[in-house]
Amino acid sequence: MTVLDSFSLQGKVAVVTGASRGIGRALAQALGEAGASVAVTARTLEPAERAARELQAAGITALPVSLDVTDSAQVDRMVELVSEKLGPIDVLVNNAGISIGREALDTPDELWREVLATNLDGLWYCTKAVGARMVEQGGGSIVNIGSMSAMIVNRPRWQPAYLASKAAVHQLTKALAAEWAPHGIRVNALAPGYILTEASPVDQPEYREWCVEPAAMKRYGLPEELGPAVVFLAGQASSFMTGSVVVIDGGFTLF
Ligand code: NDP
Repeated sequence: MTVLDSFSLQGKVAVVTGASRGIGRALAQALGEAGASVAVTARTLEPAERAARELQAAGITALPVSLDVTDSAQVDRMVELVSEKLGPIDVLVNNAGISIGREALDTPDELWREVLATNLDGLWYCTKAVGARMVEQGGGSIVNIGSMSAMIVNRPRWQPAYLASKAAVHQLTKALAAEWAPHGIRVNALAPGYILTEASPVDQPEYREWCVEPAAMKRYGLPEELGPAVVFLAGQASSFMTGSVVVIDGGFTLF
């Protein structure tokens, strides 16, 4: 096997949560371009269908699936559907996430729960449901989309629930990496810095001082700049890697 062969995902089946737009959309495309069949999931079906059509137009096998990760019954149904239509799941990318910026004393408990329910509980449901299948299959690769927000406090918009959820994602990544290594399942995380998406409009002037200037590279990232790393973590290229958190932040956390 050549080094580039080790990056191939030919014949693999991947699920990406929150793949209708932003980072998830770019990761789905990267996995597809590397050869995987991809389940493109999101709560709202129409954008997921549109994303899947775009991937199909690029020659990728893509299956749109409606999925709210906060509902474990929907997660179980998604796993059934994908396994039936595409085959056993080799790669799970837990990307679905929300951030709600509120100061701690201004954060109602419902908002706290909503963030934790999506970013942590949702990831837990997907990981457990797919992980159980991976144990039966004798292996797989799980990539959790964490954040540099697990390591630093974002400014100027306080978002305590989001930060707590992402720190939990990083530690859960390590917990499951340790527990599931004997089953051939690798669990790693990607921790992006500021990436331009609908949820993160970091191209706006008010973000320049806080999100762009402090990064060593003095710019924000684009979703497609995370694609190569997820392909690496998904397949054979990272065969000796588990429990790692890969930071991709243009040098933001250097200081
Ligand atoms: P976007 O808001 O652009 O996209 C979020 C995606 O997740 C959409 O497809 C959305 O579709 C889906 N989604 C939201 N809630 C749920 C849910 N309950 N169940 C299933 N799908 C859901 O966000 P980004 O692309 O910016 O972020 C993606 C991930 O990357 C998140 O986990 C985020 O925390 C993380 N991240 C982002 C950074 C950034 O700067 N952008 C930096 C670091 C980490 P729908 O609403 O239809 O469900």
